[in-house]
Order: sequence, then C-alpha cells, then structure tokens
Amino acid sequence: MLNIALFGPPGAGKGTQSEFLVDQYNLCYISTGDLLRKELKAESKLGKEARDIIASGGLVSDEIIVQILEKTIAEHPHANGFLFDGFPRTRIQAYILEGLMTKLNTSLDCLVNLEVPEAESVRRLLERAKTSGRSDDNESVIRNRLKEYDEKTLPVLDFYQKKGLRMDVDGTQTVEEVREDVSRIAREQYNKRPVSLVVFGYPGSGRGSQAKALAEEFGLEFMATGRMLDEEIAAGTPVGKQVQSLYENGQLVPDEIVIPLIERRLENAKNVRGFIFKGFPRTLVQSYILDGLLKKYGCSASMVIEIEVPVLELMERLDRRSRTDACMPYDNGTEKIVRRLREHEIKTVPVIQKYGELHGVTKIDGTGSFEEVYVRCAAEVRTLFQVGERS
Ligand code: AMP
Repeated sequence: MLNIALFGPPGAGKGTQSEFLVDQYNLCYISTGDLLRKELKAESKLGKEARDIIASGGLVSDEIIVQILEKTIAEHPHANGFLFDGFPRTRIQAYILEGLMTKLNTSLDCLVNLEVPEAESVRRLLERAKTSGRSDDNESVIRNRLKEYDEKTLPVLDFYQKKGLRMDVDGTQTVEEVREDVSRIAREQYNKRPVSLVVFGYPGSGRGSQAKALAEEFGLEFMATGRMLDEEIAAGTPVGKQVQSLYENGQLVPDEIVIPLIERRLENAKNVRGFIFKGFPRTLVQSYILDGLLKKYGCSASMVIEIEVPVLELMERLDRRSRTDACMPYDNGTEKIVRRLREHEIKTVPVIQKYGELHGVTKIDGTGSFEEVYVRCAAEVRTLFQVGERS
C-alpha cells in the first residue's frame, strides 16, 4: 500500500496534483471536500449539517469527517493505497487518520506539503471562482478559509514533522514542476514499501529455481518453506528433530511448526526489498495466514505468479529428475510423484483461484529452458519496481 496525504492551503493545487498520483499508483482518492459537496448535493443528513459551515469557510466537525471517511474507506477494501486531499485538517484529524490506517493494518507513508503564500492562494482562488461555481469561492469566505488554515490546519505540519513524514514542495512553481517534485517523493516512498511475491506452479514446473533466481536479482528474501524445514533438520534444532520424525513417519508438517519459521524470517530479514514465497501458501488456510502475516508488515501479496507447464511435460521432468542426483526423497517413484501432483491439484489450485479472484494471477508460460522461462518471469516482476517511473 502507498498512503499519501496532500497538504496545503486552499488553492495550493492539491486537487490538480492528485489526479496524476491517483492514476500512476492506482490509489483510492479521498477528498473530504468533494465528499462533503456530494453530501450537500444529495441533501443528506450529513450534508444538511455541514452546509452552513462550508458556506462560511469554517471547518466541518471532526465527527462528520470521521463518518464520511469510514464510509468511503469501507467501500474500497482492496485499495492499493489512499490519497488524502484536504485531510487531515486539524491535529485531532491527524490522530483520526492514525486510527483509520491502523484499522487497515497500514500507515501513512508521507504528508506532501504544497507551500504557497497567502497572497498567491487568494489570487488563485479568485481566479477559480470565475468557473468553479463553489459557494465558498468568494473573497470574504476565502479569507475565512485561510484564517482557519493558519489557526487549525498549520499545526498538523508539526505533528508530521516530528514523525519524519513531512515533505515540503514549493507550490509556487509551474504545475509541471510541482508534479515532478511530488512524483519524485511518491516514487521514493513507493520503492521503500516491501514487495511480496508468491510463486505457484505444479511440482516440476521450475517454480523453486525460478523463485530463487528472482530473489537474487531483485533483492528479495527467498521464503521457501521446504528449505526452512531442511535447515532446521540440518541444524539439529528441536523443531528440526520434530520435523524429521514427522518425515520418517510420512506425516505432513503442521502449520503450527511452519508459521513461526516464516514469522522469524520475516522479522529477521534486513536490507531486503521484500519477500518471495515458494511452497507457501499450499492450502486455503495457509493463504489466510499469509495475508495476516503480510498485513502485519504493512503489505499484501504484490504479485502472484503461476508458472504453467503441461502435465505430460511435468511428468517427464519429474521422472527425469528422479533418476539423477537432484532427486528429492519425495519424488523417487511414480506413485509419490502422482500423489504430489494430485495434492497440488486438490489443495493448491483453489488457493490460486482465490488470488485470481482477489487481485489477479500473472500466468507465465513455463515451457522451454530455465533461461527462457526466467526472462518471462523477470519481465513481469520488473514491472513491480517500475510503476513509479511511468511518465
Ligand atoms: P476543500 O474542497 O478541501 O477546499 O474543502 C471545502 C470545505 O469543506 C472546507 O472549507 C471545509 O468547510 C470543508 N472541509 C473539507 N475537508 C474538511 C476536513 N478535513 N475537516 C473539516 N472540514 C473540511
């Protein structure tokens, strides 16, 4: 998620700059001013309560603002992030924003402050008044709006300054120059977010080797649960011993063992741009667990990849591998291979379908050499890091 608040006096250009940010990062745009005008037009209860205050240039009560925000946020449960315009306008609203973000398991990335002197704000608003048709675009109301801004809204800057989230931009530059500055800030924030990828594919599709190579190229932590379990066994830890006896008895490793290992890796990962999961989630239950774990780190699955290989080719590859040194203990016989393919079909395919319905799954043609498939995978993954660089 990328969450930005655009800040500045009336007429600073917040609305104008919002348009490209929303488009470039596919954000949910929340302008409390627009939402209030919608309520006014619909003559709703909230609209009626707010009408006189808006007409006088005052600030609408925080109670009304919370209600319209909650309603709008609830309508966009899968948003990539939020762009707030005209909010928070008071210190109380800054706390409200914290609460709203916490509820979504995320946080504000930055507050972009468009700096424009009062005389310039007045000049722009009077110019806008000629065409806007807004009841609050006339000189005496404008003066009152600016007074409210100085008294109630400016202190919000200090709140974010202390958190290190305030980013100033000279709002007197041309629209394009301001856009460049805002764009640079957004891109920096965007690239800071952890990216998380999930790679699916039938056994034998090459998902493990592809995911490992992608992890290396893109600086992602390779989260392969099978490997984590093997490391525990090799290190002879208590967990490793437990896993070994489960393996020997042909039993599955329960989620209670796997989840803490993933959690530990997520916590200890340093200097990584994100995570790439292979072999997890394998079941619907695990997919919910993963969503929960990622939320804790302020992210969700940024991209879900499925490497597709026709069944006959899978069988040939697994059979070939079973006769080399690379043979895995779980692949050393036709019966075991068929069982693994069936497990994937029954338990994991529904997980891929779930992600498909939620966010879409990127399908990769897995036929051909390792290098050929890698080029296809890497091209898709690269798009995750380039969004902020579109012109
Ligand atoms: P705007 O379109 O952001 O300039 O907002 C127009 C008017 O709506 C303001 O002058 C306020 O009366 C009201 N308003 C918009 N956002 C807020 C907010 N976050 N808190 C209080 N009042 C607001």
